[in-house]
Amino acid sequence: MLIDKRQANIRMVLVNTSHPGNIGGAARAMKNMGLFELYLVQPKEYPAPRAVWRAAGARDVLDNVKVVESVDQAIEGCGLVIGTSARERRIPWPMINPRQCGQRIWKESVTHDVALLFGREDRGLTNSELQKCNYHVNIPSNPDYSSLNLATAVQVLAYEIRMASLSDDQGVLQNIDEWDQPLATSDEVELFHEHLEKTMEEVKFYDPENPKQLLTRMRRLFNRSRMDQMEVSILRGLLSSIDRITEK
Ligand code: SAH
Repeated sequence: MLIDKRQANIRMVLVNTSHPGNIGGAARAMKNMGLFELYLVQPKEYPAPRAVWRAAGARDVLDNVKVVESVDQAIEGCGLVIGTSARERRIPWPMINPRQCGQRIWKESVTHDVALLFGREDRGLTNSELQKCNYHVNIPSNPDYSSLNLATAVQVLAYEIRMASLSDDQGVLQNIDEWDQPLATSDEVELFHEHLEKTMEEVKFYDPENPKQLLTRMRRLFNRSRMDQMEVSILRGLLSSIDRITEK
């Protein structure tokens, strides 16, 4: 299978999927739109004949599937992570619509890996999974019946990536992100958050007994700012200096 570098940089991640038919349906939706990197985080039933049946001519996407144990593994190495959300959450996150999502994914996939996360059929993504994301995307559906079938949601967002790629070919899109440093990857950002939490606890700024929304707000702040690798290492250096003082 010969695929363009950008297509290889775009991952669709299905978290804890219950119905193997949806996995096959997602694979077919992806291949129709020219995408091939499918990650499954702890699928309930996979491999499964129903997945193969629903995939039809997209068997090669299933053969290429990566089954992983956690969302962190699925998004490892990614410079952009976008989560799908069918409903409003208590702490709002930067929201984009499917069109903006397609454009952003297509533009950024020139320079780094990107991941689009899809949730469980019955309850979507958890708050902590959503908090690993830079943006949330909502498909603006009928408010009285807003939740799409999982494979259908994959289809809609894969189509928008396709449309962005076609308009890009015609030179319509502007470069969204040009930067002097590579963006920090999700695993580097995760290590930063772990370090920040530890240091904030050491200096008694953060009390795990009374967490309020501090860690969530810190995640939202830093995910919104799209840190590059240099910025993450500066901040980690600062935290280490604080650690050295408090350890004395
Ligand atoms: N009852 C769940 C909906 C799960 S639908 C909830 O309230 O969150 C299964 C998955 O399909 C979702 O996790 C999401 O990945 C995708 N999806 C369904 N409808 C969507 C919508 N309107 N916008 C964005 N993603 C949607």
